[in-house]
Amino acid sequence: MTTENKVMKCKLLVIGAGPGGYVCAIKAGQLGIDTIIVEKSRLGGTCLNVGCIPSKALIHAADEFHKLTEASEGTSKIGISAAKPVLEFPQTMAWKDGIVGRLNSGVGGLLKRAKVRMVEGQAQFLDGKTVEIATSTGPQIVHAETIVIATGSAPVELPFLQFGGDVISSTEALALLEVPKSMVVVGGGYIGLELGMAYSKLGSKVTVVEAGERILPQYDADLTKPVVSRLAELDIDVILKARAKGLAADKTALNIELASGEEVSLHAKKYLVTVGRKPNTVGWGMDNLVLETAGPFIKIDERCQTSMKGVYAIGDVTGEPMLAHRAMAQGEMVAEIVAGKSRMWDKYCIPAVCFTDPEIVTVGLSPDDAKAEGIGIKVGLFPFQANGRAMTTEREDGFIRVVARAENNIIIGVQAVGASISELSAGFALAVEMGARLEDIAHTIHAHPTLSEGFQEASMKALGSALHI
Ligand code: FAD
Ligand code: NAD
Repeated sequence: MTTENKVMKCKLLVIGAGPGGYVCAIKAGQLGIDTIIVEKSRLGGTCLNVGCIPSKALIHAADEFHKLTEASEGTSKIGISAAKPVLEFPQTMAWKDGIVGRLNSGVGGLLKRAKVRMVEGQAQFLDGKTVEIATSTGPQIVHAETIVIATGSAPVELPFLQFGGDVISSTEALALLEVPKSMVVVGGGYIGLELGMAYSKLGSKVTVVEAGERILPQYDADLTKPVVSRLAELDIDVILKARAKGLAADKTALNIELASGEEVSLHAKKYLVTVGRKPNTVGWGMDNLVLETAGPFIKIDERCQTSMKGVYAIGDVTGEPMLAHRAMAQGEMVAEIVAGKSRMWDKYCIPAVCFTDPEIVTVGLSPDDAKAEGIGIKVGLFPFQANGRAMTTEREDGFIRVVARAENNIIIGVQAVGASISELSAGFALAVEMGARLEDIAHTIHAHPTLSEGFQEASMKALGSALHI
């Protein structure tokens, strides 16, 4: 890092090295753009350090432990028994931290290879072309022709249930050193259920308090039904239409209000609050700019251009869906635009995967979405109860559902729920993105026995000719 005169110049400055920012910087560097990236914390942002990666590591460890626990309890139907497993949780967390560390240095290496200059510190806009970075060696001024805001998001804090002590966010939940005997999860969305199910499998008695009428309200009820059944199997209590009110005066319980208006206290070792995430729009001098907003987010157009020329914004700070792969796709696109290429956001779909047990995948339009848009549709659904591979892995819960335009059979959406179904998301997204017709999927040979045959069968079903149901 050059700091002698405390002024650096570059063509592109990226603020924030999460999946949006670091992908943008790497791509820009590869395209020969003189690029600086600034990060106040660790390379990789939320996703790599306290989000996608550590949560999936924890979920995997929990699944492994749970399988062995079941085998030790003599409930195995497939003739496997085992001694009671022992969980060395600090070792589990150290293994998870090792993965994060490897990916962390991987991102650093990729940025270096792309000749991107990295500056550690908190960035603050002085004007639309100038940023001051508070580094450990003092302030660093950077002048840039173009600036990309990729400052990401942070957990929503409830004013009456602030983080601290036993009230934790996902960040602390991913850094616990022992499995709490009991946990109340406030918010039955993505994070609450992914982490709540994992801690339940690791031995915690988990209760989920959800304000809505059902868990995962962003998905349709058919898709969440298998998750609801699994929550019951795992002995996770779910209290719907209930709101957290705050900790009891002695801090040993969480007071919640039930739908009936009755107030009850839930005692637990940890209270995990997962009621959404908010864009990081403070702390970097947004007031010194004239940026239009869209609700709490920075408003962008189809090129991720903000209302200020030469200032782009990508990732969670720009709105829903707050997903790593959306941020990455935006980052890659903006780098090409800065390099002078003609690009705009032309994606038909952004796949979403919820890593609950079973997993949920959605791509494109659901039947309800399509109907709301006045599109005439054909729908085909294939249940895993009729899939050989699902039987051989003891997981027959779930289905694949295909939605196609009635007039031409073009697939406009795929939804699925099932164990390990996340790996099929690429095929679903490809079908929608390429404008595949039901016949394309139905006439493609799908390897046997695989869960993917369910995609072929669901397409055949929509055509009125399923073979195995
Ligand atoms: P972020 O990853 O939030 O990165 C922003 C970066 O900017 C941070 O490193 C921050 O330190 C830095 N920054 C902010 N302000 C400044 C400043 N002024 N100066 C310098 N640096 C600054 N998404 C998925 O797609 N799949 C998943 O499985 C998934 N699981 C998740 C699990 C959890 C527990 C959580 C919390 C999130 C998960 N997400 C998942 C969401 C995903 O993490 C985000 O969508 C993604 O990280 C957004 O990327 P981003 O680049 O926009 O922002
Ligand atoms: P979420 O929006 O998925 O779920 C929040 C839940 O909290 C909702 O069901 C809501 O009804 C409920 N809620 C809100 N206020 C409440 C209250 N006072 N009391 C009880 N319940 C309340 O939010 P999240 O789980 O915090 O996740 C944030 C975002 O992070 C997600 O929207 C997603 O974009 C991202 N994420 C993605 C993944 C993934 O891709 N697998 C995983 C984790 C997080």
